[in-house]
Amino acid sequence: MRFTFLGTGTSHGIPMIGCRCTVCTSADPKNKRRRCSLYVVAEGQHLVFDTPPDFRDQVLSFGVERVDAVFLTHPHADHIFGFDDVRRFSTLQDAHIPVHGSPETIRLMRKKFDYVDKPSYGFESVPRVRFTEQTGPVEVGNTRIIPLPVWHGQETIYGFRIDGDGKRIAYMPDCNAIPGETLALMEGLDAMILDGLRPEAHPTHFNIGQCVEQLARIGARRSFITHLTHSSDHHALQARLGAAVTVPWDGLKVEP
Ligand SMILES: [Zn+2]
Ligand SMILES: [Zn+2]
Ligand SMILES: [Zn+2]
Repeated sequence: MRFTFLGTGTSHGIPMIGCRCTVCTSADPKNKRRRCSLYVVAEGQHLVFDTPPDFRDQVLSFGVERVDAVFLTHPHADHIFGFDDVRRFSTLQDAHIPVHGSPETIRLMRKKFDYVDKPSYGFESVPRVRFTEQTGPVEVGNTRIIPLPVWHGQETIYGFRIDGDGKRIAYMPDCNAIPGETLALMEGLDAMILDGLRPEAHPTHFNIGQCVEQLARIGARRSFITHLTHSSDHHALQARLGAAVTVPWDGLKVEP
């Protein structure tokens, strides 16, 4: 199994438009964060978790070769508004791309992307996808993707556990509380990637301190923080967190 961080930034991305802070003006590529997405290759299957507004750039920059299935954590703008670019993969692969999410996510996707699968011309002007309401484990080839319901403010959304090639990882980019039943599904993880936003408290995200606490409680072999704001310089945050938690950067590839 190999996974690639396609994006590790909060909804604004970093640099944030119009901000002159030291992180937003930093020349360090590790301080440039696209909106959150993860690319996982396991059992020969190529899976994408969220299609943010930066999706096209992420695909071109970090070598996304194909997409066998898309999984959506939730339909917030920073996680879905690059979705139209799935069209290139449905064209290249000459196939409908399965798109999985909670019933509520899929309901809103059908509304926001009401034009997909309705070509108005004789060429591939729209993505060909197959929306699927996911309420339990889904198999893509020999990989198994298990939804992990979590709180994100007032909403219940999904993180996902991905099992394949003898490894087990979980991805939870937006979250401020993990219910007990979900924690029970997260035992024996080789890698855990969790929302840690910023140092200060937030009504819909764990802050950095809470994220570190939760990661220790989950106890994966390797722990990663994501969905970061411009409050954190990459190297300063990594120095502060030490060896227990990795601060990823866009394009980082991990073999768990
Ligand atoms: Zn800034
Ligand atoms: Zn969100
Ligand atoms: Zn988000």
